[in-house]
Amino acid sequence: MTNSLSAILKANLTRRPETIAAQSVSGIEPHSGAVSPPLYLTTTYARDEAYLPRLKENYQRNGTPNLWAVEETIAALEKGAAALAFSSGMAAVTTLTETLPLGAHVVSQKTMYYGVRAWLQELAAKGRISLTLVEASDPAAISAALTPATALVWIETPVNPTWDVIDIAAAAAAAHKVGAMLVVDATSLGAVACNPLTLGADMVFHSATKFFNGHSDVLAGVLVTRAVDERWKEIARLRTALGNPLPPFECWLLLRGLRTLFVRFRAASDNAMAIARHFSNHPKVERVLHPGLATQNGHATAKRQMTGGYGAMMSLLLKTDFKGAQGFCTRLKVIAPATSLGGVESLAEHRKTVEGPTSTLPDNLVRLSIGIENVNDLVADIEQALAGL
Ligand SMILES: *Cc1c(COP(=O)(O)O)cnc(C)c1O
Repeated sequence: MTNSLSAILKANLTRRPETIAAQSVSGIEPHSGAVSPPLYLTTTYARDEAYLPRLKENYQRNGTPNLWAVEETIAALEKGAAALAFSSGMAAVTTLTETLPLGAHVVSQKTMYYGVRAWLQELAAKGRISLTLVEASDPAAISAALTPATALVWIETPVNPTWDVIDIAAAAAAAHKVGAMLVVDATSLGAVACNPLTLGADMVFHSATKFFNGHSDVLAGVLVTRAVDERWKEIARLRTALGNPLPPFECWLLLRGLRTLFVRFRAASDNAMAIARHFSNHPKVERVLHPGLATQNGHATAKRQMTGGYGAMMSLLLKTDFKGAQGFCTRLKVIAPATSLGGVESLAEHRKTVEGPTSTLPDNLVRLSIGIENVNDLVADIEQALAGL
């Protein structure tokens, strides 16, 4: 990298988050002036006359200009020292857990994103790790589970799909007391609601498939670290060894999605808050679960911690049974009955159907990922679907 280019990067890093997201850290491409970055669709890079790599690249699995661009921008948005982008959220999770020493103790949550919990349970079943799952919305429960052998505390806040809020600073302090690292699955915080690294977390994880990309068309995962230490270098080495880096076109799309991150997240957050309030006292709704409601577990923590908004995720506990909750989802017309979250379009999901018979979630829980549509259309859609209960 030339000096002038690194000077540009350095200057751009001092900008505010909205500006960094809109223009990316690398900004305008200096050779051609391209405002939208070039896409490097090549698996290999020719060496120069001295048989040296021309820049940093040699082979796509080791990294590409599009990969560096998306990682620099996400590291800046999460206020971290470095980021690594993977071919999916789960690719980031499985690469991280591969660095755990054999037999390491891991503390995580009983209720959390299903795929990550299932993966930790699979590692435990194989004897690769030992695992303690706690109800992490109770801060004392994390502390009680920690032992000197605990290597990793993995939390997700707000908790998917109950949206209880976990105190990140308290979890970090507890983990650090026994020398464990705290990783926060911050997917639904979108780097807008809050930045867990500034609250003491050692690493932040995002399924970038969700709010970061925001358009339901890219599968991607990201880890961001507070310090570039030996553990971080091992994760980077394993990403190459396991063949997990995010490919160039997906990087390009993800950077494109990030340009509108702040406006998307804030619009969706405002819509979700309005919907949560509207249905809080509805005769067909037992309870609305959303971090912004005073009735929510951890609302006081949310007020302190989620300074950038309460987010776009919520769940409805309907006054109905398993079949009734499924029927509600199929009656929705504006909101799509689909899994996933964090897109510009609203989605509804009956989590118990998706998680299967081992799910511990209530039969009547429907998760909503609120998008950026006109809020009146969303409210009317939920109203008409509730009328059929
Ligand atoms: C989607 C999701 C994941 C998994 O990410 P993929 O990109 O689907 O592999 C992990 N955690 C949370 C909270 C998610 O929503």
